[in-house]
Amino acid sequence: MRTKNATLNYSTRGAGDFIDITEDVRNAVSKSGIREGFALIFAVGSTCGITTFEYEGGLKSDMRNFYEKLVPSSSGYEHDRTWGDANGFSHIRASLCGQSFSVPFSRGELFLGTWQQIVLAEFDIRKRNRKVVVYIQGE
Ligand code: ZN
Repeated sequence: MRTKNATLNYSTRGAGDFIDITEDVRNAVSKSGIREGFALIFAVGSTCGITTFEYEGGLKSDMRNFYEKLVPSSSGYEHDRTWGDANGFSHIRASLCGQSFSVPFSRGELFLGTWQQIVLAEFDIRKRNRKVVVYIQGE
């Protein structure tokens, strides 16, 4: 059993930004030289997340609406009162979304559906530089 890891860097544009990172994950797995195993994709930070959906304009919009409905940006949050912050909703959305996703692979090929992209979700209220760790284990 071997392990390798890679760090991917992204600049986001703030809440509602979704970035398709599938190709970068594919490249990281390919470069690792590991042919059979799985990759854990982990976003570093408490106001961003990793998820999967069909990466197209309509659905990106639907996802933004979904999070807005579920965790409105306009509500008063204790976090904001405590810290003089304005990103209470960002933390809650990130917590709901989760920060990691794992995908198995064989012969270096990820077991992903054609319309199943790996997506970095930004929930914070401002632009951020994000690190995504791809931890690869296998042989
Ligand atoms: Zn905060």
